Amino acid sequence: MYLLIDKATRQAAAVDPVEPDKVIAAAKEENVRLTTVFTTHHHWDHAGGNKDLISKIDGLQVYAGNDEIDGITVKVGHNFSMKFGSLTVKCLYTPCHTSDHMCYFVKDGDTSIIFSGDTLFLSACGKFFEGTPGQMYEALIGVLSKLPPETKVYCGHEYSLGNLIYAHFADPENPHVVSKLKWAKQQREKSLPTIPSTIGEELQYNPFMRVDEPSIQRRCGTSNGIETMAFLRNEKDNFKA
Ligand SMILES: [Zn+2]
Repeated sequence: MYLLIDKATRQAAAVDPVEPDKVIAAAKEENVRLTTVFTTHHHWDHAGGNKDLISKIDGLQVYAGNDEIDGITVKVGHNFSMKFGSLTVKCLYTPCHTSDHMCYFVKDGDTSIIFSGDTLFLSACGKFFEGTPGQMYEALIGVLSKLPPETKVYCGHEYSLGNLIYAHFADPENPHVVSKLKWAKQQREKSLPTIPSTIGEELQYNPFMRVDEPSIQRRCGTSNGIETMAFLRNEKDNFKA
């Protein structure tokens, strides 16, 4: 869950507010008015709090890419753009983990962030529950890798340490993986988050963002990015650290 605050208008949007009481408490603490929900996808640990939140706060706008999301008021599609106070929010459709998956790209002047849900994680991607390797290739390489490199990535889960252990196995010679893994271990030992990263960083150490790299393809015995995406996902699904 994340709380996005527009300082100019003191309004807030909750991204995947699965625990509504915590979100309401956070909004109160920040002294902001919760007006909006951005839902990334239909899985219960992302959309499962919508019903309860709507029952507690009147007039919420709920954005999602799927008509069946609880409380949806606006169905959005790829490149749908809106103003949220002084911020601009652009919806990026990235089906594969689920067929309704939406990422939200937020811009404030020169600063940008992406709420990437379960499509892009720090050093990995989500499982392919409702899609194909070709769709994840399009989501990661066609869409998300094209965002400005300084874009901060706020993903749906803190899976970073396990993901980096796998990345080290998948891309053993990569020094960016080694240093990020070391740093992530230190963060977790101190019970600190590893999130956010940036798109530029992900392009350096996330094997799923690097499927077009010849060195990665060589290890996988593949000859293109989509085959490599399929190979890595299958390998990681069966990987024991
Ligand atoms: Zn999910």
